[in-house]
Amino acid sequence: MKILVINTGSSSIKYQLIDMESKEVLSKGLLERIGLPNPVLNHKLNDGKTHVIQARIEDHEEGMKLILDTLLDEKLGAIKSISDIDAVGHRVVHAGEKYASSVRITSDVINALEECSELAPLHNPPNLMGISAAQKLLPDVPHVAVFDTAFHQAMPPKAYLYAIPMSLYDKYGIRRYGFHGTSHRYVARRAGEMLGKHWQDLKIVTCHLGNGASMAAIDRGKSVDTSMGFTPLEGLYMGTRCGNIDPAIVIFLEEKENLTPQQVYDLLNKKSGMLGASGVSSDMRDIEDHSANGDKRARTSLEMYAYQIKRYIGSYVAAMNGIDVLVFTAGIGENSPLIRKMVCENMDYLGIEIDESKNEVRGKERVISPDSSEVKVMVIPTNEELVIAEDTEKIVKEGIDELPIV
Ligand code: ADP
Repeated sequence: MKILVINTGSSSIKYQLIDMESKEVLSKGLLERIGLPNPVLNHKLNDGKTHVIQARIEDHEEGMKLILDTLLDEKLGAIKSISDIDAVGHRVVHAGEKYASSVRITSDVINALEECSELAPLHNPPNLMGISAAQKLLPDVPHVAVFDTAFHQAMPPKAYLYAIPMSLYDKYGIRRYGFHGTSHRYVARRAGEMLGKHWQDLKIVTCHLGNGASMAAIDRGKSVDTSMGFTPLEGLYMGTRCGNIDPAIVIFLEEKENLTPQQVYDLLNKKSGMLGASGVSSDMRDIEDHSANGDKRARTSLEMYAYQIKRYIGSYVAAMNGIDVLVFTAGIGENSPLIRKMVCENMDYLGIEIDESKNEVRGKERVISPDSSEVKVMVIPTNEELVIAEDTEKIVKEGIDELPIV
């Protein structure tokens, strides 16, 4: 079975065509600048070569058509006929409280996702545009939605509710939803496989540290807590997002800096986090470089970053009454031995330690704790596209509408 995985943003479409028998990525790419001047498609075949294609692309439907035409192209393509695509898996950000697992897309699902758009105004509308375009061009195959929020629907009310008047939860659905669920689920399951254990027997803390970053407490297969909240702004501080701050700062800034709510929102989403704290960049590589060259603010921002991860580990160990595995994933988690070392320093009280030579790894699966360590610390590259393809395959093969909740 060949599955096309689609991740649509407001002006972009990311795709992978995966052969499920061999788990091989036959082709992948990214179309950017849809509806803007100079759209560009970077298309890769499994020989690793990238082909740059430029065309006028006014909307997502034209974008999807260009992607399908490229996949079918005699020279650049990966398939001979459109009927070689057996199903399409779509990444969708927000399913509110409606779905706790992946679903076959029907008109009811579309309606439910439209209702959730208010909770994710930047993400769900483009996701829906992607679904509509793909359904128009591939009308005869099943389409499946895999949600960022679904895995965290297992959280109990004590973890997901905010202590604000409950009428606001009832009226607007203000609660913690959590994101990156597909990634947390993948690395937790993979950790179990690598250790020769079932993940549903383990207490796992997962750290997804990319431009966006979040952590999850996964107690025997269920997400029981996560750091992102009502929106992705809560929790760890990230490339440009502030993470947890005292909410009174918002009002203070509005008054003192004479800012509108939208301006404060932009400041906290786009100018804060590593960019704001380091004054250097939102990119961890730049901050590590500056810190190594003696920039004190960059050094402090690294310390802040590692310290907040430590705090979350401590609270999640308390929440689960233990920890068997700590996983690092995503751009920083997979590639920064320095951050992993800073996080795991002075954690021996919790049984967490790393072996410095094993920690010298980038972008590869590895256990980085000493062999004798009871808590396994692991680096596991995430693979959200593979999870989307696997969920899609399961729903199609088993002829079901919704995956059972893990
Ligand atoms: P996104 O959330 O956009 O998918 P990624 O998972 O690609 O983000 O992570 C991007 C982050 O990973 C950036 O902060 C980048 O600096 C960091 N990163 C990538 N490679 C390295 C590296 N070798 N060392 C340190 N940080 C890295």
